[in-house]
Amino acid sequence: MNEVLLTLNAGSSSLKFAMFDADTASTRARMSGEVANIGRAPVFSAKDANGKALDKGAMEKLEAASNHAHLIAQLLQWIARRHGDQRLVAVGHRVVHGGRQFSKPTRVTDSVLQELETLVPLAPLHQPHNLAAIRAVAKWQPDLPQIACFDTGFHRSQTRLAQLFALPRALSDEGIIRYGFHGLSYDYIAGVLPEYLGDQADGRVIVAHLGNGASMCAMKNRKSVATSMGFTALDGLMMGSRCGTIDPGVLLYLLQAKGMDASTIEDLLYRQSGLLGVSGISNDMYVLEQSDAPHARDAIDLFNYRAASILAGLVPAIGGLDALVFTAGIGENSALTRQLICDQLDWLGVALEPAENDRNAALISAAKSRVKVFVVPTNEEAIVARDCRSFLS
Ligand code: AMP
Repeated sequence: MNEVLLTLNAGSSSLKFAMFDADTASTRARMSGEVANIGRAPVFSAKDANGKALDKGAMEKLEAASNHAHLIAQLLQWIARRHGDQRLVAVGHRVVHGGRQFSKPTRVTDSVLQELETLVPLAPLHQPHNLAAIRAVAKWQPDLPQIACFDTGFHRSQTRLAQLFALPRALSDEGIIRYGFHGLSYDYIAGVLPEYLGDQADGRVIVAHLGNGASMCAMKNRKSVATSMGFTALDGLMMGSRCGTIDPGVLLYLLQAKGMDASTIEDLLYRQSGLLGVSGISNDMYVLEQSDAPHARDAIDLFNYRAASILAGLVPAIGGLDALVFTAGIGENSALTRQLICDQLDWLGVALEPAENDRNAALISAAKSRVKVFVVPTNEEAIVARDCRSFLS
């Protein structure tokens, strides 16, 4: 009987899954899919290894009101029915925050789950859903090994300096430091960089993970040296509905002068800001690019202005720039975003080849560009599967 691994990536409004062979190092999923639009009108889709749409069966009957736990239970039933002839040997989860304690892939036990629960306030958009997926699997098959793979893990190669805030030492010592996120994505990109860059893969590279959540990672020797996100996934770039870097004085003003309470501020910073807040239209870059509204263009311009200035701020940590990589939904698909960011970086030696950029080619920089610019699709699931395999062996 074929042995397989399941990966789950439970986000705030989507649940992505993929199934991989347990005994090969293939990064190609046997099948994958997602439940999107959770909380509004959930939509299920799945495809096989060749990209052919799979019959949805019972997963077509999705209730608009279904919460994550219910949808995960339904998905697990669907998988069990469809793949009854394969033996599921482990489930790997993307878990956004590992805190100080967890950086390596970790088998989930009751006590690990309790520890991870304490990190919910540090990643309120993601961590509760990540943990709900773990609990749903435990209820379904209590003895099935579950491995948590952390988005914070990849950044633990950074120096202490790069991880410190300028706060009193005692607070740093208790773990109020810059953790960084999107580590599974950066780990994947670091692994495939030699295919694009050859020997230069170990040089000075900035990876821009631009999706609904967005961050950048400056790498040398394909290790994280500095990153734009910090203690939480709010810091750094402007995002779909998150504000990114903000003067902390604004938070004091909202608390003290405007009388907002903590949960109102949390909602404002995580769910009402970013592209959504500035445009007043949508958190979705594609929607904004299709809009003629001036506020949509304002949001796009601010996103790209902030992206270019944060990128420039990461360069000193790696002493220059040999290559820039765009990845994730916006990075892989929005030629406009890449152009608007790169136009602000010509002083760094970045020059795009417009035709290649427009067709989302792998290499999009001009021949004269001092910095090579690439579009590389990310694959966080493949990293979760890799980590599960090494854990099991
Ligand atoms: P992710 O979180 O990585 O799935 O990325 C989601 C973001 O990618 C959303 O803001 C989408 O609008 C954006 N996106 C996906 N495709 C395109 C596209 N063709 N043009 C512009 N933005 C896109």
